[in-house]
Amino acid sequence: MTRTDTGRTTADQDRRARQTAERFREVYGAAPAGVWAAPGRVNLIGEHTDYNDGFVMPLALPHTTLAAASPRTDGVLRVHSGDGGSSGDGQTVELRLDALRPAPDGGWAAYPAGVVWAMREAGLPVGGADLHYDSTVPVGAGLSSSAALEVVTALALDDLYGLGLTRQRLAQLAQRAENAFVGVPCGIMDQTAAACCTDGHALFLDTRDLTQRQVPFDLAGEGLRLLVVDTRVKHELGDGAYAQRRAMCERGARALGVHALRDVQYAHLPEALRRLAASEDGQEGGPLGPEGGSPGPGSGPDVRAVVRHVVTENRRVEDVIARLDAGDTRAIGPLLTAGHASLRDDFRVSCPELDLAVEAAGAAGALGARMTGGGFGGSAVVLVEEPAADTVAARITEAFAAAGHAAPRIFPAVPSAGARRLV
Ligand code: ADP
Ligand code: MG
Repeated sequence: MTRTDTGRTTADQDRRARQTAERFREVYGAAPAGVWAAPGRVNLIGEHTDYNDGFVMPLALPHTTLAAASPRTDGVLRVHSGDGGSSGDGQTVELRLDALRPAPDGGWAAYPAGVVWAMREAGLPVGGADLHYDSTVPVGAGLSSSAALEVVTALALDDLYGLGLTRQRLAQLAQRAENAFVGVPCGIMDQTAAACCTDGHALFLDTRDLTQRQVPFDLAGEGLRLLVVDTRVKHELGDGAYAQRRAMCERGARALGVHALRDVQYAHLPEALRRLAASEDGQEGGPLGPEGGSPGPGSGPDVRAVVRHVVTENRRVEDVIARLDAGDTRAIGPLLTAGHASLRDDFRVSCPELDLAVEAAGAAGALGARMTGGGFGGSAVVLVEEPAADTVAARITEAFAAAGHAAPRIFPAVPSAGARRLV
């Protein structure tokens, strides 16, 4: 049987779709018009590059958020989630479409409400809807449960109202919802991954012109496994530090006279770093933080280190693609580990748990490992030979116990399908 959903089977996915439809009927009193799914993701390589017009390479997880939905004709949006421990609270939230306004602290309902708001702002003929969600994407683990929630909502509304939008357009509307309605200044990677990934592939995305390429990533066929290590550390410090890293990237670009750091060629990096050292803007990059204090453990980076991370990370994405195209998947391992070092030492968005996961993986014989997602917690990815996977996972768990950290949750990342209609 095909593995499609949370490492299980098509039959499991069908059962979940039926259960989600049944729960919709209990909540709203009638069967839904359909059931849709959108996945969580891990990013293989290309971190903190998507807001620098750079390159990213995510893959969809088998973990999905399902939405059962029906249209409404009275201008009302009702959303319900929260069965079985997801972050919704089990209450139905009811909103009037003509009263939707971006507001901080809008709770979880701001994600789906923001999608409807973004569609209407774009002039699309979207009316009301009833939606019920059921998710297997870990929430707040850096695996993008938020984008899964937005994109499944966007796809359901696209179908219900016959909008005929492209996948990339759905991703852009979902990103606008998160940026402008929820108030999180994320890039375009997560929503594009949820909307556009395909089974058995990683998705190369140029975030400047939004061109995409599906890159075959047949781990099982090559006797490899990609493990996700969810450290269970929530990125509490992440929000402010994320905005500060973005601001430093913009400062670096300004000091170098380029539109975005994407425009700094790898071959010109030494010269760019010399110019930054000589410029006031580059020198005063010093510690980040509200009062010049540190955003996290250790001190923040300076502008030169931030620029070095972005430029070398874009190069690593190109190198990973070249190796995958050459059929040499094992050879991407050292690039993943180099990416981690850059995020830890230059961009400074790692944390002790992520560093330990990567270090323990390496010591146990993994081919490579890196933190994935925004940082300051969340998850790491580890590339291993299939037969060594259980041992490597056990060594990481032991290292966490020895360091006094809570046990991580470790599972395989099977490259899976993007958003789709199930029923
Ligand atoms: P991540 O995207 O890494 O999981 P975020 O902090 O960006 O973490 O998004 C998590 C938030 O998204 C949750 O706090 C909640 O508001 C919302 N969310 C995600 N999935 C669901 C769901 N299935 N039901 C209700 N809310 C959800
Ligand atoms: Mg998110």
